[in-house]
Amino acid sequence: MNCPCGAPDDQLVQYFQTGETDFRLCNSCGCVFRQLFPGPEELDEIYRQAYEEENISGETTNQESGDYAVRSFADYLTAQVVKPGDRILDYGAGSGILVSELRNRGLVCDGFEFAQSAREYCLANRGYSLKSDLHALPDGYYQAVTMIEVIEHLTDLPNTLKDIYRVLAPGGKLFITTPSRSGFRARIEKGNWREARKKFHLFLFDWRSISFHLNRAGFTGVEHIVFSPFQKEGWKFIIYARLMQALGMSGTLCVVATK
Ligand SMILES: [Zn+2]
Repeated sequence: MNCPCGAPDDQLVQYFQTGETDFRLCNSCGCVFRQLFPGPEELDEIYRQAYEEENISGETTNQESGDYAVRSFADYLTAQVVKPGDRILDYGAGSGILVSELRNRGLVCDGFEFAQSAREYCLANRGYSLKSDLHALPDGYYQAVTMIEVIEHLTDLPNTLKDIYRVLAPGGKLFITTPSRSGFRARIEKGNWREARKKFHLFLFDWRSISFHLNRAGFTGVEHIVFSPFQKEGWKFIIYARLMQALGMSGTLCVVATK
């Protein structure tokens, strides 16, 4: 596969020498991506297994943030990214856990989700529908879009970012978190890094490559959030996470891009 930036094949080099050896680094844009993406049927099966209902109720989907992380993201978003009255879209909403948290805080929030089983779970258990077609939405409809641990899954990165850009209002914000390949564990574990081993992780970003692709989709003012929300509870984790953030080796890359 060519890099989504369109660079020719001779710009691509193998990224890991052991473990997940199918990742390629594009020397032109800095993107790291799988040389062969799983096909639609294979991806469907991976997600179907992840979203089996018992996994959702047990919070073991490996796909969705836990309750603590969701509250932590909602705290950050309401303090820094969104204002009361804004329309928000959670892109890659899973079963709707963040959508519900933001709605409970009085915000206007929709969710978008590819996985049919996750949409069905949301409707049956939370009582509202998640969207499955961005093209049905008017231009400039949302003041903010969130993508929490989603961008690394996208099979069509450039067009998905363009679709999101289209539904954002001028000045609207796109809030993204994704595993950071510049993080401490990624540096130590390389091709055996947990996030690289997940077969549905098609991209491994660092600051340079994510900025490149956001700018290319039209976003300006891409901002790196160094002290990003915590994903786990507990003082030991929080001290570790703050230290890694301060050293620039956080396992999570967090950015806000402006339309
Ligand atoms: Zn590239």
